[in-house]
Amino acid sequence: MATENTKCVIIGSGPAGYTAAIYASRANISPILYEGIQPGGQLTTTSEVENFPGYPEGVMGSQLMEDLRRQALRFGADIRNGIIKDVDFSERPFKVTADDNTVILADTVIVATGASARYLGLPDEQRFAGLGVSACATCDGFFYRGKTVAVVGGGDTACEESLYLSGLAKQVYLIVRKDFLRASKVMQKRVMDKENITVLFNTNTLGLFGEEFLEGAHLVEFAGTDKEHKFDINIDGFFLAIGHKPNTDIFRGKLELDDQGYIVLPGKSQATSVEGVFAAGDVADSHYQQAITAAGTGCRAALDAEHFLMEHQQ
Ligand code: NDP
Repeated sequence: MATENTKCVIIGSGPAGYTAAIYASRANISPILYEGIQPGGQLTTTSEVENFPGYPEGVMGSQLMEDLRRQALRFGADIRNGIIKDVDFSERPFKVTADDNTVILADTVIVATGASARYLGLPDEQRFAGLGVSACATCDGFFYRGKTVAVVGGGDTACEESLYLSGLAKQVYLIVRKDFLRASKVMQKRVMDKENITVLFNTNTLGLFGEEFLEGAHLVEFAGTDKEHKFDINIDGFFLAIGHKPNTDIFRGKLELDDQGYIVLPGKSQATSVEGVFAAGDVADSHYQQAITAAGTGCRAALDAEHFLMEHQQ
């Protein structure tokens, strides 16, 4: 079992992790970054990113992540393809164990493991990923200008995404499994007032169909009752908005998490409940969840780690 010592381990390789690596490398902290299950993070599953400042013509999500990765490498970050399977934050240096059983003793840790969109679990969701199925209206909505789309969910995210899409698409269906929206009253009213949003209450999605691209969804209303009614809608886009799951399983009981599982940042910095452990990106942000905000907090976490190391003379 190999054991190494480092000033900083960064766990995760989305915009937050890579940005933290760029800043930490330039501060001569020589961070080791573990890329995790999905190198590059969620943006590698989207197509074009048009709202990341600095790319006036837009950039493919995977290209953006490759650029950030190369930028971190340029300053000497040690980027490794591997997964952190266990952490011990009970004493410093912290003990971080990778899936190849490498043990790293780290003076600071930056957690940037992100969040994963929840999917319904339909087999066709994967088949049409990037070909009509998306979990991010802000990222992909622009491609559905003048088209017909559906959003699944009844919370604030689903309402927000429906409203955003209603400004682009010709028609938006909001598929809600209950007979009410869980979203805040103000969001509900905005949705109900929009002429081109049709809310389908008591409705579930049975499947998706299409040849190469998504063409429609099989739905059922009042499933399992005597009013059960199956029908299809023709759509070009199918947006999941049934919540995100922060990737915090290995931190449970080791860092303070909120009731949704997101890492709690008790102060005004990126510091977590454990001194010397910092968090950045979606894993500590259930609200904004944008690439640029993740990158911003990655920068903050690296600066926080640098200050921590200076204060502790390490
Ligand atoms: P929520 O957990 O609030 O809502 C998830 C929605 O998805 C619910 O309507 C739920 O249905 C539905 N859902 C879950 N699983 C399924 C399924 N398998 N099939 C169909 N529907 C399903 O998540 P959000 O992402 O909307 O919000 C997360 C948090 O962030 C909330 O606290 C929210 O208030 C907040 N937020 C605030 C915003 C704002 O203030 N502007 C914007 C966005 C989010 P059901 O109701 O039946 O459980």
